[in-house]
Amino acid sequence: MAFGELDTVGARSVLRRYSSEWFEAAKRSQAGIRPAGYPRRKRALLSVHYYHGTFGLKGQRLRIPVARGCPPLVVALARPVPYPEAWVRSVTLVAVAGRLYVDVTAALAPEVHDLDPGRIAGVDLGIIHPFAVAGPDASLLVSGRALRAECHLQLSDTKARSRKMGRKAPSRGQRGSRRWRKLRRAQARAEARHLRRIRQGQHEAAKAVVAWAINQRVGTLVVGDPQGICDKDAGRRHNLRLRRWRRTHLVAALKDKAAMAGIAVVEVNERATSSTCPACRARVPKPSGRNFACPRCGFVGHRDLVGATNIAARGGGVICGDPRIEHRRVGTAPTRRDRRRHRHDARRSCLAHGRREPNGSRSRSPARRAGEAASPSAPHAVLSARRGTADRCPKGGKGKWSGH
Ligand SMILES: [Zn+2]
Repeated sequence: MAFGELDTVGARSVLRRYSSEWFEAAKRSQAGIRPAGYPRRKRALLSVHYYHGTFGLKGQRLRIPVARGCPPLVVALARPVPYPEAWVRSVTLVAVAGRLYVDVTAALAPEVHDLDPGRIAGVDLGIIHPFAVAGPDASLLVSGRALRAECHLQLSDTKARSRKMGRKAPSRGQRGSRRWRKLRRAQARAEARHLRRIRQGQHEAAKAVVAWAINQRVGTLVVGDPQGICDKDAGRRHNLRLRRWRRTHLVAALKDKAAMAGIAVVEVNERATSSTCPACRARVPKPSGRNFACPRCGFVGHRDLVGATNIAARGGGVICGDPRIEHRRVGTAPTRRDRRRHRHDARRSCLAHGRREPNGSRSRSPARRAGEAASPSAPHAVLSARRGTADRCPKGGKGKWSGH
């Protein structure tokens, strides 16, 4: 096997990744889990991992070791690493949809804040609100509107693309054209951009929760774990929504930032927490909107905060009856100039993906217009009108001809 200019460490990391993929596929295949694909495809770029002591990092320059006798490889980073160089434990070179990254792992010391482990807050995860947090004296609602707008645009864009290009797709094993390859690359770029935006928004949401918890001196966060939510079939729309939610990343971001701030995170089962009245413990049917109202005792509240209150109670927290609610916004809403917003805009000069056949004359091709002009209906009139020499309308002097 040849590894080009990779040194022993780089070659070993490629082999390790390959073999772990292979064993994972074998395990899934034996357990009967699908998909279980063996890594057979030849790849141009694989991620390469270097551990502490094998690479050199100085300012924005990263030195990667290479095989003996090869020219040295120094990667210029786009921005400085946000940690002191001695704390960096490993670097990984990653390629995602045409972009090259350096993934940095650093050992950081947790911050010290004046927190009380007895002050417990419940966290309810959701799609409308990524986090709804109920604390002892106050509660926090993080709005996911920008994230949902991004998801909505991305989904409609993807659907339009596949509607337009799906039937031109090469079948399995068939060689694709260069145009098809370019399309796939554009799709991968759009998807990667979407995922970056969602990830950024979720990090902002977790950061807002941790900052709020520090401010409230909350030392323990009880998180409702929606395990098994993807196991049951909830209809094709809701299934997709659940799978594109990325709640594993959402929880991981919260756990990381909480650990950094010295906040303990406890996971409890969130089953039935949003359909139980926090005042009289009666089970009520799950509310369809955001407002929770108990028919037995008359308690009224925000549905996600009711869930968070019940989750906190499962972790031993006591929430007062009528807390002050704070709101945060996270993520960046798609801009007005976002290309995906204007797919059906008839004034666009070029055809967007998946747009229906336009009716206006503006986007017709010149060839087609010329063909109409040559048709036997009124050739002379059209030609003379083009030249601007027609002095009267051939059809009775109304409409757009009357100006001549
Ligand atoms: Zn009640």
